[in-house]
Amino acid sequence: MINRRDLIKHLSTFPLLGGFLGQGGAETASLIAKAPARNLAKELGIRTFINAAGTYTAMTGSLMQDDVVTTIQGASKDFMMLDEVQTKVGEKIAAITHAEAAVVTAGCFSALTLGLAGVLTGLDQKKVEALPHLEGTGMKSEVIIQKGHNIGYSHALTNTGCKIVQVETLEELEKAINEKTAMLWFLNIQSDKGQIGHEKFVEIGKKNAIPTMIDMAADVPPVENLWKFNDMGFDLVCVSGGKAMRGPQSAGILMGKKHLIEAARLSMPPRGSTIGRGMKVNKEEILGMYVALDNFVKMDHKKEWKMWEDRVAHIGNAAKSVKGVSTEVTVPELGNHTPTLKISWDATKVSLPAKVLQETLRKGDPSIEVMTGENNSLSITTWMLKPGEEKIVASRLKEELSKAVV
Ligand SMILES: *Cc1c(COP(=O)(O)O)cnc(C)c1O
Repeated sequence: MINRRDLIKHLSTFPLLGGFLGQGGAETASLIAKAPARNLAKELGIRTFINAAGTYTAMTGSLMQDDVVTTIQGASKDFMMLDEVQTKVGEKIAAITHAEAAVVTAGCFSALTLGLAGVLTGLDQKKVEALPHLEGTGMKSEVIIQKGHNIGYSHALTNTGCKIVQVETLEELEKAINEKTAMLWFLNIQSDKGQIGHEKFVEIGKKNAIPTMIDMAADVPPVENLWKFNDMGFDLVCVSGGKAMRGPQSAGILMGKKHLIEAARLSMPPRGSTIGRGMKVNKEEILGMYVALDNFVKMDHKKEWKMWEDRVAHIGNAAKSVKGVSTEVTVPELGNHTPTLKISWDATKVSLPAKVLQETLRKGDPSIEVMTGENNSLSITTWMLKPGEEKIVASRLKEELSKAVV
């Protein structure tokens, strides 16, 4: 029989049962220990699915690396000072990414807010507490961005109280800079949607002594991007932890110039009276983020790429074996840089609206998530699949497409 001490050692396996231990003694304990681990998805009726779509926040991003989960469990056993965890982890992350300093944030979005907060306040505690109210504080109040970069994520910047100034041409950018300009912000995933490239943008920032920040949330792989923009001279670089790196979904990294990271941390927990108090990252996630990054950098990326390609080929071959179906593999240059399979069909040969196929796959057993594209097409990525799931996706697709052949 398992004794009480052994059981306590293994409590991590049954975190929800720990509370019962006080009452029943070893007998009860052994019964509890033998109970199977709870399957919360089943118990609460939450749908789980094969993710052939990609790293979408709505689909809970990515599955954490096993090492990350082990790190989280291990770290949960001891108290640590939050600031010390951030400082020690920050030093390691900075060394990996060629940054002067780094800090783990609650996702890339909060890295954007906190980085800008640091730019605005510097080390002035009064200013930190004044945010998001800028008037009469002496803080700057404008962030310049290119029009094509102004998609939803710039809301992270206006959270500080700053307003967005949009520009299109280089001339407009230089004219827009004034004494209120706090920062120039660049969105990597939209870099082909603006006239001003990375290097020019950084150059203009330096010339005017205005910090530049880049959002590269979804831009690994390639792994080199983790240091490329630091090397290029951006003052702040922000990335998601829970996308391709498969760290905690609620973690991200803010990295860059030491004085700016130090300033950003004044708006972060444990400090209250700050705009960042609600953007808490626990020690488990901070350490998990470090392990995710460290493993990701050391990973065999060629091998990984080959595996994604093989899976794409397997699914593509099954789909195009159905008459009237064709496939194409592309790799987005910006964001979600992974082999992406487009499956399309001639509606006169296969009578099946893409939305209907998507819903059928979703409702199947096992449930499968794919994205729809333009005119009778699906878009599939394989980097979020677990080994072997490509076979299920392939056969389900073939089955449903075949049924719709007219
Ligand atoms: C995902 C994403 C974000 C937000 O990142 P989180 O880590 O989810 O906070 C910001 N910008 C872009 C371009 C993204 O793709």
